This record gives sequence, C-alpha cells and structure tokens, in this order.
Amino acid sequence: MSGLARVATISVHTSPLEQPGTGDAGGMNVYIVEVAKRMAERGVEVDVFTRATTRSLPPVAELAPGVSVRHVAAGPLEELDKSELPSHLCAFTSDLLRTEAAHEPGHYDLIHSHYWLSGQAGWAARQRWGVPLVHSMHTLAKVKNLALAAGDSPEPLGRVLGEQQVVESADRLVANTAEEARQLVSLYDADPGQVATVPPGADLSRFTPRGGARRRLGLPENAAVLLFVGRIQPLKAPDVLVRAAARMLEDDPGLRDRLLVAIVGGPSGSGRAKPEELRRLARRLGVADVVRFEPPCPQDELADWYRAADITVVPSHSESFGLVAVESQACGTPVVAAAVGGLRLAVRDGRSGVLIDGHDPSDYARVLRGLLGGPGRLRAMSDAAVRHARAFGWDETADRLLEVYAEAVEARTMAVSA
Ligand code: UDP
Repeated sequence: MSGLARVATISVHTSPLEQPGTGDAGGMNVYIVEVAKRMAERGVEVDVFTRATTRSLPPVAELAPGVSVRHVAAGPLEELDKSELPSHLCAFTSDLLRTEAAHEPGHYDLIHSHYWLSGQAGWAARQRWGVPLVHSMHTLAKVKNLALAAGDSPEPLGRVLGEQQVVESADRLVANTAEEARQLVSLYDADPGQVATVPPGADLSRFTPRGGARRRLGLPENAAVLLFVGRIQPLKAPDVLVRAAARMLEDDPGLRDRLLVAIVGGPSGSGRAKPEELRRLARRLGVADVVRFEPPCPQDELADWYRAADITVVPSHSESFGLVAVESQACGTPVVAAAVGGLRLAVRDGRSGVLIDGHDPSDYARVLRGLLGGPGRLRAMSDAAVRHARAFGWDETADRLLEVYAEAVEARTMAVSA
C-alpha cells in the first residue's frame, strides 16, 4: 500500500481521451491511461487535468473506475500548436488551483506532471498545495536538438528554459531509461538522487501473438509485410522505410509482387514527413504500389497490424523509449530500429530484432532483405521478441511509480518536520 489516496496527473497539451498515433497524441497518452488505470486498481484515485479543446467536452469525464479526466478551460476551445500553449499556462494553472480549492484541503496527495508544459503548472500547484511534484519529461529539448532530422525545426529556447525550471522545482524526475536519467543529470544538472528510472511498458494482455491477422485485415498470406506505426513526422523518419523499400526492389525486382509497406498513423506537426509528402516520395521512387497508408487505429486493431507484419521498422532519429517497438515484439514481430535512445533498451539487438546505426536507407534495405530471406532466423527472433517484451509490463511501471511516489511523500514529510 502506498498510503496515497489521490493523485493529480497533469497533461496540458494532449488528452488521454484522444486516439494516439496522430497530432500530439502518442506514447505519452498511452502511458497516462495505462498507469492511471493501474493506480486506480491499486486503490489510488487519479484525476487527469488536460486542456479543453472543444465546447462539447464535459467538465469531468470518467476514463475508468477511479480515473477521471478534468477538462480545464485555458485559451480557445480548439486544438492549438504546442508552441502556442505557454501563453495559456497561467489560465490552466489558475483553473487547476481552483479545482483543489473547491475540495477539502489536502485533496490531492501528490502531483505527477507529464511533459514540460505540465511541469510548469505542477510547479505552481506543488507550492500552493504543499505536496510533492513528480515529473516525467517524456522527451528532452536538448536531446531532440542534438538529433534533428532534415526539415525539422529545433526546439525553442523557451522550452529548454522551461524544462530547466521544472528540473529545479520537481521533487522527483522520472526517466524512461538509464540513458535519460544520465541526460537529466548531465544536460540539465539534475541531482542524481532526484531521478528515478522507471521503464514504461506495453499492455501484455492485448499485445499477444495470435494467428489469422492477415485474414482479418484482408492481406495476402504470402506477402512480405514491413510495418511502420506512429505519428508521421520527420523525427520518426518513416521516409527511411519508404526509401529502403525502393532500394530493396531495385536489388530484387521479384519482391515487388509480395512486398507491402504498411504505414499506420496520422500527421503530426509540420515538416517534410507528412503523409502527402511520403506519398509523393513513394511515387517519385516508383514504390507507390507497395506502400499502403492506414489511419491511426485503436490498439486492439493495431495488435493485428503488428501480428500481420513480418518486421516492424522504427527508424526514429530520437526516441525516449519507443512503445511501438515493445508492442510489436509482444505480438511476436521482430523490430528493426535505429540504435537511438530507448530503442536500445526496447530491442535486444541480434535477438529480438536488429538495431542499425544511422539512417541510411541502404543499411535498412540490406538488413530487411536479409531477415526476409531467412525465415528460420525470423522465427527465432519472433520467439525471442515475445520473451523480451515480457520484461515491460504496465503493472511493473505502476508498481515502481508508486514506490517513487511514496519516497517523494516521505522525503517531503521529513523536510517539513525537520
Ligand atoms: N498508437 C495507436 N494507434 C495508432 C498508432 C499508434 O494506438 O494507430 C499508439 C501505439 O500503440 C503506441 C503509441 O501510440 O502505444 C506510440 O508510442 P511511441 O512511444 O512509439 O511513440 P510516441 O508517440 O511516444 O513518440
């Protein structure tokens, strides 16, 4: 038992009710939903505060028993670009504080903020409520700026400074990986004792191996299916997969009858990797007939895409973890990924998939052709992938987070009574 009754989770820029895989909704949304549900199962109620983006949203919506989403009025009732949100943070924070003020004092025992914008609101609430602030960055501006894709704009100085302020005001920082923990210390001067490493997970009851996926999706049984899943943006580099497919067909024209590149996800941010741009690229490279675009879909359907694929490809330039890589492996589909960030933990190189240095499409083409040409090795990788993914369950994430919460509360209590 954590001794906690209620946690205020803050997610300013994206709602846990949104469909992940497009716009600003991705792994962080999945993280917040999966963790909140498990917290509630463990007796800790969670209120998730997010910005209201349409008039039709109720002030409070129940996401699951014990988990509510509170829509905060801050700025216009429409989707806004993240760059516009700092000017609405004051309104967001004042509404957050008003909600607590309507309750008995001490309603929330702890605040967990996600992404730096939420950390700014959490920082103010922490001071007002006298409870600990636990913060998850999810991505770091300084790290992103070191790995920019062509056509991507650097993260602004305002975000870098905002992240720094959150580091200075949070009681605990949650990092997805040991590498992120080191980056918080080396790039943001975080106190190592302030940082806890808690790997995220995958829903291991939903993402399982199961036959019949190609039939259910209407895909030919003999196809060679390469899958990309996620928000279509330069950082995720879906163009590398399209270019690699073109190279594979140049090297082996006979593959054209069987090759299918499925891209599941929607546009996100601005930049050259928009779906229209990818389509244009596929046409220019003469592979439009093998590339298929699918809109973002719920995870139950997504599980069938993973199962139907021979290989999932994650060529991201930067990835703080990469939930897609774990979900795919949990479904028994090996992953070929860029050797960056959390993907180095999410994929066991040479066993559950292959990690590639850099983003040269020829390297991807070579590895993918090699794997497709060796069904025995691919089958062994598939088994290893399922085993590897078992190490990442949301139950473990929630249990570990509850420990971090308990430490933060204890440290705070000791500091107050000292
Ligand atoms: N996702 C989804 N439907 C889609 C595409 C993606 O539900 O059509 C989910 C996917 O299951 C994963 C998340 O979006 O949990 C993406 O997380 P990841 O860590 O791979 O990338 P991020 O969006 O955080 O950059």
